[in-house]
Formats: sequence, structure tokens, C-alpha cells
Amino acid sequence: MQALMMDTPLMISSILKHAERNFPEVEMVSVTVDQPRHRQNNKVFASRCRKLAKALESLGAEFGDRIGTLAWNDFRHMELYYAVSGAGMVCHTINPKLFPEQVAYIINHADDKILFVDVLVVPLLEALQEHIKKVDCIVVLTDKAHMPDSCLENLVCYEELLEAQTDSYEWPLFDENTACGMCYTSGTTGNPKGVVYSHRSTVLHALAGALPDVTGASNMQTSLPVVPMFHVNAWGAPYAALMVGTKLVLPGPKMADGETLHDLMVSEQVSVSSGVPTIWMALLDYLEAEQKTVPSLNRVHVGGAACPKVIVDRFREQHDCEVVQGWGMTETSPGGIGLAAEDSERKLGSAGKALLHTEIKIVDEQGKELGSEEVGELYIKGPNITPGYWNNIEATESSFENGWLKTGDAAKFDEEGFVYIVDRSKDMYISGGENVYPAEVENVLYQLPQIAEAAIIGVPDERWGETGVAFISLKAGESLEEKDLISHCIENLAKFKVPSKVEFIEALPRNATGKVLKRTLREDYIGSDAPAIS
Ligand code: AMP
Repeated sequence: MQALMMDTPLMISSILKHAERNFPEVEMVSVTVDQPRHRQNNKVFASRCRKLAKALESLGAEFGDRIGTLAWNDFRHMELYYAVSGAGMVCHTINPKLFPEQVAYIINHADDKILFVDVLVVPLLEALQEHIKKVDCIVVLTDKAHMPDSCLENLVCYEELLEAQTDSYEWPLFDENTACGMCYTSGTTGNPKGVVYSHRSTVLHALAGALPDVTGASNMQTSLPVVPMFHVNAWGAPYAALMVGTKLVLPGPKMADGETLHDLMVSEQVSVSSGVPTIWMALLDYLEAEQKTVPSLNRVHVGGAACPKVIVDRFREQHDCEVVQGWGMTETSPGGIGLAAEDSERKLGSAGKALLHTEIKIVDEQGKELGSEEVGELYIKGPNITPGYWNNIEATESSFENGWLKTGDAAKFDEEGFVYIVDRSKDMYISGGENVYPAEVENVLYQLPQIAEAAIIGVPDERWGETGVAFISLKAGESLEEKDLISHCIENLAKFKVPSKVEFIEALPRNATGKVLKRTLREDYIGSDAPAIS
């Protein structure tokens, strides 16, 4: 028997309409390059989103077109999230910190028609101009007075574009499984892989994330998402906030800066904030050094990498602030597993339990499901998890199995079903919240003719969570200085991928089949009295 319910699709534009109707006066505060403290309420925001939707059409963008963004967390990026998706186009967020070649690859692979970029990103695009020929025009997210002098062709000013429009626009209704967003994640080897989100998956993810024991988003809160909007939709905060009427405070490009964060938190009375462990270490150190506090802050969300105990302890003891941990991936929208604040002490170190609608299992190498305390690979499935990568059959075949995403994370359940991420089966480490795939760094090192063998491992680091150490053996008769090796990496890799230490060794340890024993390298390195990593 069919249900007798209206078949109204789950749309991102319905979140915007809800916010305009129910929370018109709720503010959105931003730091941008052109405005140190910009404020607008949801009513103005919704009107500007409608103007932007019309402006996109005036630029020739059509249903299904990919619209790239290279931008920080601010109101204009928020407008793009809603207007692009609301109009039936695909908001493709790109990490401006990636190396230029990868940015060009991502823009071309996604077939981006228009790019919306922060002023600070214009020099990057100038360098890429010859490689992104299919992009029709580049819109700079600023006003006329702050437009940069640039050699780029087809450069448009965002505020002028909006000024030319009225806000009379009706958001279209279409199938909820239509793509609304896109985000690339780095690959173990080779190029980044694209994940395509739908209206349905994004709305369901935001709802599951807003539940009381996950983020507990509400109209009573003021939220400062420090997690970048180019990284998996800032963990859904832009959607959840407008669903429930949370005031948003958006820090712009100065995300990792303790002073800016403290200033915003105090002056805007921020009560909840989300980010990777590195951000919290920087803020906690700043507060301690300056003898400052953040009295309004009562909840911090930590994810993207394992959360060190010291972060939980320092927030609790020094700032009376609870810490909520979570696990996720670009492929999972990203929330997959969460640990409620009330369990965070009792289950310290656990990522928590699967979020609403999400199923997880832990399997051995033969795919057999494991019981509690047995370590295996974490598999996950659900409506906010991608079943494959955009136009990438090879990567899809290796990462999915019978409808499950193979996460590449090694995990175990405890007796009560809480998940502990214990290691990674994929060769990857996370430095300052950014994924580094050693194979990419090793390929760059092999460009140096003096190098016979190169292996990169991630080791614990107080500031960055993890940092890279390069183990190098040189060809007979060759010599190479650490500083030359590092400058070669700086020239060819994003900053966060450059190893912070180099160890020259005779030969890499290998197993019988010739595979480099990275675990041995790591254990020997961490266990040795190697000098502290700067
Ligand atoms: P990304 O797709 O860039 O968000 O990276 C996803 C990866 O980050 C996961 O596969 C994990 O390896 C790691 N990660 C995310 N959250 C956690 C966590 N709470 N604990 C440990 N690792 C995590």
C-alpha cells in the first residue's frame, strides 16, 4: 500500500525559506578581507541568495552546472552554498591550500563553468590561467573598491553582480536526488577523487547532525565553525544553523589564529565551535599564554583526526567547556560516527556510535564481521554516504564493496558498541587537519636524481597532530643536503605536505616481497631518541 503523503522533495532551498520565515532577525557575522566585521540577518541573506541565483543565470549557468568556489568561511560563501544549490546547480568547494596543479586538475575534472574566489586566491588563479581554459568567468568575492588588479580575463566583481539584480526569484522544485554539492578528497595514489552530494543527503545529514546528542544545534546558540567551508561543507554547519536559527560567526581567512578566534568568541558571545584538533591546541595555547578565557563557550566539536586527551582535559578544567568528538570522511558528508558529550569522559578516545540512518561494521581481511575488541577495517553505509567517486571507476572499485564504503580506517568496537579508531590501514596521515598521502610526497622526492629510496611516515606532533618524516637513502656516490630536499618539496607540494624532518639512512626496511615496512620505520623513529620534531 502506498502512503498518502505529499511527495515534497527535501530541498536545500527549503532550509533557506524556513530561516527567512522563522528566524529573519538572526544574524550572520563574518570577517572578510574587505570587511573586518560584516553583519547581516537571515532576511537580508535570503534576499541576496535570490539575487545571486538570478546573477548565476545571467552569467549563463544552467541546471546541473558545476560552480567552483575557492573561498574561506564568510557570508558570501554561505550565499553561494544556498543560491547555487537552490537554483539546481552544483556548489563545488575547492581547497585553496592545495598545490596549483591539483587545483587545476580538480577544476577540470569537475568541469567547473564559473569560479567564485576570494581576493586572496586571485594570484593562484593567475598562475593557473592557461590550465583552466574551460572556465567561463571568475567572480571575485568582494566589492568594487577591493577588486584586485589582475591579468585574468573575464573577471567579475561579486557585489556589482548582485547589485544588478532584483530579489524576485522563486526557488525551483526538482528531484531531491539532484546533485547540490561536490568536494574532492585526496587519493592514496594519483589524483583527488570527487564526491557528489545530493539535496536529500545534505538535508538528512544536517538533520542527523543537529540532534541533541550530536551537535545539539539550536536557536539559543551562537556557532563559530572553524572547520573550513571548503572541507566537506564545514561539517554541515551552514545547513544546520539555518534549520534551527543558530547565529553564525564566520572567521574568514584567519582561521587558525588564536587571537582572532578569541576576539570573535568574546565579542560575539560564541557558545559552540567546531574544528580539527590543531585549531583547538592553538586556541588553548593562546588563551593560556595570554591568561584569557572564553566564558560564553560551552561546547566544542572536535573531528577530522583523533582528538588528544589533553584537549578534552584543558577545555574542561581551564574553561568549563565540554568537548564532543566525531569521526567522518568527505565520502560520508562527513558525519558518520559521534560521541555525545556525556560519554566523552567515560569513553575517552572513542569516536562514538553511528549517527542516525548510518550503519557501520568492522571486518577482517576476508570480509568477515568482527566482534568487540577485534581490530579490523571500518565499513560504513547510509543515505549520506557516497556509493562511488565522480567519473572514477578505478577508485570506486577499490573503495566500495557490496554497497559499503571501505573507510581505510582500522577500528574496533568495545563491549557497549562504541567505536575506537585505532590506526589507518590506508597510507595516510593528517597534519593540521589536512590529509597527506605519503605516495604523493614520495613521488616528488623521487624527482631528485640523488635519491635511491624514499619513504614518508606521519609521526605524532604536538602542534599539528601529526607531521611527516622523510626517510631517504641516497644512490652510491651521491650527496644531498636536507635543506635542498626541503626546498624541492616546497616548490612542488602544498605547504602542509612538506616533511618537517629528514632522516638519511642506508636502506629502507623491507619485507620478503620488497614492501617498505613503514610500521617498523615509525616504531623505530618514535621509540628512538630522535630529536624533537619542529
Ligand atoms: P577527510 O575525508 O579529509 O575528512 O578525511 C577522513 C579521514 O580522517 C578518516 O578516514 C580518518 O582517517 C580521519 N579521521 C576523521 N575523524 C577522525 C577521528 N575522530 N579519529 C581518527 N581519525 C579521524
